[in-house]
Amino acid sequence: MPFRHRYTGLIERYRDRLPIADDTRIISLGEGNTPLIRLNNLPTVLDCDVDLYVKFEGLNPTGSFKDRGMTMAVTDAVNKGSRALICASTGNTSASAAAYAARAGIAAFVLIPDGKIAQGKLAQARIHGATVIQIKGNFDAGMRLVREVGEVAPVSIVNSINPYRLQGQKTAAFEIIEELGSAPDYHCLPVGNAGNITAHWIGYCECAGVGDATLTEACAFCGGQCRFAQALVQKRPRMLGYQATGSAPFLRGEPVSEPDTVATAIRIGDPQSWAAAQAARQESDGWFAEVSDDEILAAQRTLAETEGIFCEPASAASVAGAMRDVRNGRIALGSRVVCTLTGHGLKDPDVAIAQAERPVLDVPPEKEAVRRAILDNLPS
Ligand SMILES: *Cc1c(COP(=O)(O)O)cnc(C)c1O
Repeated sequence: MPFRHRYTGLIERYRDRLPIADDTRIISLGEGNTPLIRLNNLPTVLDCDVDLYVKFEGLNPTGSFKDRGMTMAVTDAVNKGSRALICASTGNTSASAAAYAARAGIAAFVLIPDGKIAQGKLAQARIHGATVIQIKGNFDAGMRLVREVGEVAPVSIVNSINPYRLQGQKTAAFEIIEELGSAPDYHCLPVGNAGNITAHWIGYCECAGVGDATLTEACAFCGGQCRFAQALVQKRPRMLGYQATGSAPFLRGEPVSEPDTVATAIRIGDPQSWAAAQAARQESDGWFAEVSDDEILAAQRTLAETEGIFCEPASAASVAGAMRDVRNGRIALGSRVVCTLTGHGLKDPDVAIAQAERPVLDVPPEKEAVRRAILDNLPS
């Protein structure tokens, strides 16, 4: 091993906990190992005693958590001899599939809903050379088509119905436990197709059941044998899933036929991991709740303005939900809470610019004019 400290992606990092054979050729872009950032200012804004963290998955290679699943799905596809991938996507899956296909030297076909995709995501799919197929229909229609075409064309489906996707995505839970020393009390996620909340629950359950890798870190004195260490390791969070009001099938109790929200990444009416996500909520004693588009955008802005963290609207749904449920007491005071920020804000510049509150100042190119602009806008 010439470079012992070079991070080479989550498959190498968690090989012993993933379904990967020793001789497999790995397709990786160094995904995973994302920062878990403690929020310093938001709890003050909320005026609540809460230990709040965000796991910034927008810092994955293509700017979303989809890369964790994609490294596994594409590695598996390539090793089975597949020469083409296909996915339906609200944007981030297509960006990720396109990049990992390019890395592997195979083709990618991506089905996207006509007009409802953030510009950054479309740019990624195109620059990586994917074939972009735009349909007059939403994500759910695209997903149905992909399932059907997968039966009759030589393509590997890399949506989260591919079990390798969830295996890769479960590693986010491993990283969180390693950093905090145990699972948090609550884990908040935006929910669209419901694969990611399912994957996190798989990860937390594996740690609680197996524990071996984390045991020794949990208690440096006893090597993980004492009751304290056992309790830490066996702890699992309550899973909280947040959906946008216009796109909230888990709150309605049935699929939604015309989902709509500014958070295009969770504009999904018929989640593919319905049963598994319900099980995660139930087993973890968690809940699903809805947040309005206004709450989502306000949370996106608050994170950006008070913490310097820029996530895309769908990601902000987790923080919007956490903020509200901390305030109303549903999340117990003094809790440790992790929110997943699923994608980077740069994915969707249009939404960010449209809601920016400070105007761009137009001034003549003169010293006095610039000085005035500074004095007028200094914080009081
Ligand atoms: C895919 C995605 C989601 C939704 O994740 P699911 O696994 O479909 O529930 C949320 N936010 C972003 C940014 C995404 O790309």
